[in-house]
Amino acid sequence: MGRVLIIGAGGVATVAAHKVAQNTDVFNEIMIASRTKAKCDAIVKAIGNPNIKTAKVDADSVEELVKLLSDYKPDIVMNLALPYQDLTIMEACLQTGVNYLDTANYEPRDVAHFEYSWQWAFKERFEKAGLTAILGCGFDPGVSGVYTAYAAKHHFDEIQYLDIVDCNAGNHHKAFATNFNPEINIREITQKGQYYENGEWLETEPLEIHKPLTYPNIGPRESYLLHHEELESLVLNYPTIKQARFWMTFGQQYLTYLDVIQNLGMSRIDEITYEAPLADDPSKNVKVKIVPLQFLKAVLPNPQDLGANYEGETSIGCRIRGLKDGKERTYYVYNNCSHQEAYKETGMQGVSYTTGVPAMIGAMMFLKGLWKKPGVWNVENFDPDPFMEQLNKQGLPWHEVFDGDLEL
Ligand code: NDP
Repeated sequence: MGRVLIIGAGGVATVAAHKVAQNTDVFNEIMIASRTKAKCDAIVKAIGNPNIKTAKVDADSVEELVKLLSDYKPDIVMNLALPYQDLTIMEACLQTGVNYLDTANYEPRDVAHFEYSWQWAFKERFEKAGLTAILGCGFDPGVSGVYTAYAAKHHFDEIQYLDIVDCNAGNHHKAFATNFNPEINIREITQKGQYYENGEWLETEPLEIHKPLTYPNIGPRESYLLHHEELESLVLNYPTIKQARFWMTFGQQYLTYLDVIQNLGMSRIDEITYEAPLADDPSKNVKVKIVPLQFLKAVLPNPQDLGANYEGETSIGCRIRGLKDGKERTYYVYNNCSHQEAYKETGMQGVSYTTGVPAMIGAMMFLKGLWKKPGVWNVENFDPDPFMEQLNKQGLPWHEVFDGDLEL
């Protein structure tokens, strides 16, 4: 039995809160804290369990976090805010003796760049404090790492080629919308691509490499090579890997809009000066600093509101080639998730669902003592079996194909 604090009140946090509340044998005390308390209260209302507590916290402030953690004394914090808050929340956990879990690695606000080094730098301090930090426990990163660990444990002596394939074949009937936080999403997609080959990281222009891949129950979809954070830890943890890549599908309309957004300068993350009317005296103008991408986020559809009209499904998996008993083998392990089913259960679409459910399972693994080891870890550093078992029970069942054509 454990006490959990969820930080953030967006799409992913909403799903995680529903799933935490469903698993009363593991989570008996729950608090949701975020920048806007009203959003936390709305989640509690949707779940219909008035025993869930809520609080307001600015997770950019270590001081505010330390106060909240010292008062509530959770066993684990699930950081489902934004990647910008990873380091402040980890710091507050260390100062108050609380374990930590997140779904996305740290990114500085002023550079669109993500890597694990900032969070791995906390390893020794977590070890010394006897605390566990579980990094990247959504779907990808998250289940993608658990799938790889499961493949390595049960099906391969040597993993040589790893391709993580992420397809969203859903239709939300909006001209343009992102499936999770627009700012984080657009920063990720407009970056240069990167993949690992024979011990080296090779860079590509953004979305330069693409090919059609066939997804179960969906069919062929154009898939684009992106850099993705889990590749960084997986190639270190499985040194036999010769090549590791990440692919994501995008529709032509989405890419056309993205191109326009970039050409208009709306994906910029540097501050510009904008002259706006004063709120209490519109006859006067005042100069304000705005970040174009943050402004764009304010006018785009909120990913949390996409669920009601979202049709179709996601399909995310790992396609792996390697050796077993001296023979080459291929293995494809994947989950398909229906946007409508996710919405019926949690009021959120499939992308939030596929992230929030694994986050809950990660916290469950910790509280059950199955994923508990002092230090800072990626998900593949733990036993995948109990996590895989829970995926089947908690709404993200997985399927396997042996020795099929991986198309890669
Ligand atoms: P949202 O933008 O919907 O939600 C983010 C929440 O964090 C909002 O409630 C926001 O508050 C809150 N927040 C932002 N800044 C602060 C702050 N300083 N203090 C307190 N709360 C804050 O994002 P999502 O739910 O879509 O995504 C959540 C996380 O999940 C992100 O880190 C994202 O990168 C990650 N993710 C991971 C995936 C995976 O597979 N691993 C896939 C998809 C997402 P407010 O409501 O006031 O704005």
